[in-house]
This record gives sequence, structure tokens and C-alpha cells, in this order.
Amino acid sequence: MSRLRSARVQWSDDAAGPLLAAEDAAGLSWRDAAACASVDPALFFPEDGQEEWVAAARSVCGSCPVRGECLADALARDEQWGVWGGTSEQDRRRMRRAARSAARDRKGLAA
Ligand code: SF4
Repeated sequence: MSRLRSARVQWSDDAAGPLLAAEDAAGLSWRDAAACASVDPALFFPEDGQEEWVAAARSVCGSCPVRGECLADALARDEQWGVWGGTSEQDRRRMRRAARSAARDRKGLAA
């Protein structure tokens, strides 16, 4: 099964960009401003070793006005697959590890 099919993503009717079909809880969808709205979503779900796809997806994210919102949403959903908010799967794993480590450090300081 490809990552595209296994990803926990519901594609919009237009199947454009890695956009979720559902509006956010406030009904104010930041996704409407996504720079990837007219880009093939497959670009954002490269297979292992397709680093050039990751770089191309990051390039799109680099000019996206909602990059921060996208990354926050991916982190909140613990998104395991694809490029979101300019980060790869590996980037987000590193961010999660760093956050866990910082939390452990804070606990250690508080004890
Ligand atoms: S940051 Fe990247 S993946 Fe997220 S909405 Fe913007 S272009 Fe799409």
C-alpha cells in the first residue's frame, strides 16, 4: 500500500494538495490559503529515498502563507506521513523526540 493511500488524510473533492476535506473546528479553514492547493498531492507523500520529492514539496511550503498553521496541525494530529508545514517525516520525529527530551528535563529540574 502506498503511503498516499495509507495516510490518515481525507482528500478534498478537488484532490488538490494535501488538504483535509473537513473544516477546522472554528470553521475558519487556513487550508484555503495553502500554496499546495494546485499541486499534485503525491508530491507531498514521497516513498523512501525520494529525497528530490521532499525537496520539491519543501520548496512549495517555503512560499506558503499558512506554513505555521499547517505544521501545528500536523504535529497536533501526530501525522506520521508526508511533508507538512515544510517538514518531512524525519523532521517531525526529531521534533517529537526533542519535545519529549525537553519535557523530561523540565520534570528532572522540578523534582
Ligand atoms: S505548508 Fe506546505 S503542505 Fe502545508 S498547506 Fe502550505 S504548501 Fe501545503
